[in-house]
Amino acid sequence: MTDDALTAEMTAWRRHLHAHPETAFEEVETARFVADRLREFGLDPHLGLAKTGVVATLKRGSSNRAIGLRADIDALDIPEANTFGHASKTPGKMHACGHDGHTAMLLGAAKRLTTEGGFDGTVHFIFQPAEENEGGGRAMVEDGLFDAFPMDAVYGMHNWPALPLGTVAVAPGPMMASFDVFEIVLSGRGTHAAMPHLGDDVLLAAGQLITALQSISSRTVDPLDAVVVSVTQMHGGDTWNVLPAAATLRGTVRAFSSAVQDTVEATMRRIAEGIAAAHGATATLRYERRYPATINDPKEAAFCAGVLEGLFGADNLDTAPRPVMGAEDFAFLLAKKPGAYVWLGAGRPEGSPPLHNPAYDFNDAALPRGADYWVRLTRAALPER
Ligand SMILES: [Zn+2]
Ligand SMILES: [Zn+2]
Repeated sequence: MTDDALTAEMTAWRRHLHAHPETAFEEVETARFVADRLREFGLDPHLGLAKTGVVATLKRGSSNRAIGLRADIDALDIPEANTFGHASKTPGKMHACGHDGHTAMLLGAAKRLTTEGGFDGTVHFIFQPAEENEGGGRAMVEDGLFDAFPMDAVYGMHNWPALPLGTVAVAPGPMMASFDVFEIVLSGRGTHAAMPHLGDDVLLAAGQLITALQSISSRTVDPLDAVVVSVTQMHGGDTWNVLPAAATLRGTVRAFSSAVQDTVEATMRRIAEGIAAAHGATATLRYERRYPATINDPKEAAFCAGVLEGLFGADNLDTAPRPVMGAEDFAFLLAKKPGAYVWLGAGRPEGSPPLHNPAYDFNDAALPRGADYWVRLTRAALPER
C-alpha cells in the first residue's frame, strides 16, 4: 500500500500543480515538472508527443505484454475562488477538474512501481495534455502514441466528487457521452422592421427553430437512447428598427452512440432547412464531432472491477453507475485499444463543489487510493510468473 511518506510527497506535488495551472497544449511547466519527477525515479521520459505530452516506460521481467496508464494534466480557464495557500497563482486559470490530482497519483504509482516492481512486462505512464475542449487524447493518438509505445490495453481514471471518498465505480459499456457542437446560420433578406413583408424574418425562424430542435430528443431518437440537444448561443440583429439578414444558433449535442449522433445531425439539418424554407430563408448547418462516447470494453471493465473490489471492498464498488452526459477525451484512446475508465470517489463528508466549479479542489485523501489502484492494476495486468 502507498505509505504516509509517499502520500505526503504526492500531496506536495498536487498542491504545486494546483498553484501553477496551465491549459490546453500550453502545459510546458507542468510537463517539465512531471519529467523532472520521472527522472528522479530513474525513468527516461519522452517529451513532445501532442506538444506537451509526457510518456515514460518501465519494463520488468521478460513478458512482452504492455499496458498504458493515462493521466490528464491540463487545467481550465476559470478564475479560482479559493484563497488557501495552494490556490492558483495564474489569473483566470485553475485546476477545477482535479487533473492536478490525476497527475500526482500517476507520478506516485510510477515511483512505487519503479522502486518496488512486482510485475512482469511493460507499463507506459501517459501524461496527456488538453483533455478539456481541445482533444489532447486525439492529438496523442494521431502523433503516434500507440506506435511509439505499443500496448495491449490502456486505462484511465477520474476523481469523482459525487461519489464518497472510499468508493469507486466502473461500468461495462458507456461511462461518458459523445461531445458534438453545431452552428446553424439562417440567411434571408434583411428589411425595415416596420416593413417585414419586404424581407424574410430570420429571427422569427430562429425562435421557431430553437423550439423545434427539442423535438429531436422527444420525437426522432428512440426513447430508450439518451440524447441531449442544447442551444447555448443565439446571435442576430444590431439595432431596434432592422430585421437582420442573418441569425446564428450554436449549441452542443451529447449521446452514447454514433448511430444517435447520425440521427441527430440528419434531423437537425432537415428541421433547420425546413423551418428556414417556411420563412423564405435558407439554413446552413455545420455539425462537428469533437469527442466520441467513452465506452468501456466489458472484459476490461470486469478486470478493473476485480482490482477495485480487492482494494475498496465489494460494498464500495458500483459496477452499474449511471453514465453521465459529460464527455472525456480518453474516448480516443479507448477507441483504439481495449481498456476501461473508472471513477474514483473523492467526495468529502461535508460535501464537495462539482467539477468545473471555481471552488473545486482535488481531495488529497484520494491520492493514496488512486496510486494504489494503478499499482494493483499493473500487477494484476502484468502478473509475475
Ligand atoms: Zn473537466
Ligand atoms: Zn476532468
